[in-house]
Amino acid sequence: MLAVVPPARPRKLTKVPFVELADGRLQGVVSSGSDVERVYVSSVAAGTHAYQCSTNNNRPCGGLRGHPCKHLQALADEALLQYGVDRVARYLRVDVGDGVSGGSELLARLNGQPEPASAAVVFSRFLRHLSYLELPGAAATLPELHWFPATGAGR
Ligand SMILES: [Zn+2]
Repeated sequence: MLAVVPPARPRKLTKVPFVELADGRLQGVVSSGSDVERVYVSSVAAGTHAYQCSTNNNRPCGGLRGHPCKHLQALADEALLQYGVDRVARYLRVDVGDGVSGGSELLARLNGQPEPASAAVVFSRFLRHLSYLELPGAAATLPELHWFPATGAGR
């Protein structure tokens, strides 16, 4: 069981502190809107578009009721900002036609089903990623790319 690491500066964490296209998924960590100590691990699989959202302790997200929850929307929003619509669409293998204007539109183009997936792998990647970070005081204004360590650069 992974321990929850309290964020050093909860008020300054962005809503989506971690987003990546990896392991055949768009996946990431989304802050709870109401509880600073809770985060959700959300993911969408490339190809099948199966999606999942749960807390970092593998409790199912209450917002998943036959459609993607607000965490998945936030994740998709951030992915579009970080990677651009072309790259996200290509990775997930979704046809976006003339493009999409935001995460919820992107999700509307998917035809996947909710599918159980372990949050642990994604969450441990997030924790490892956090360990590389040194958050400056103005973390909220960080360009999202700066959340990511250079590949292979270590610390
Ligand atoms: Zn959710």
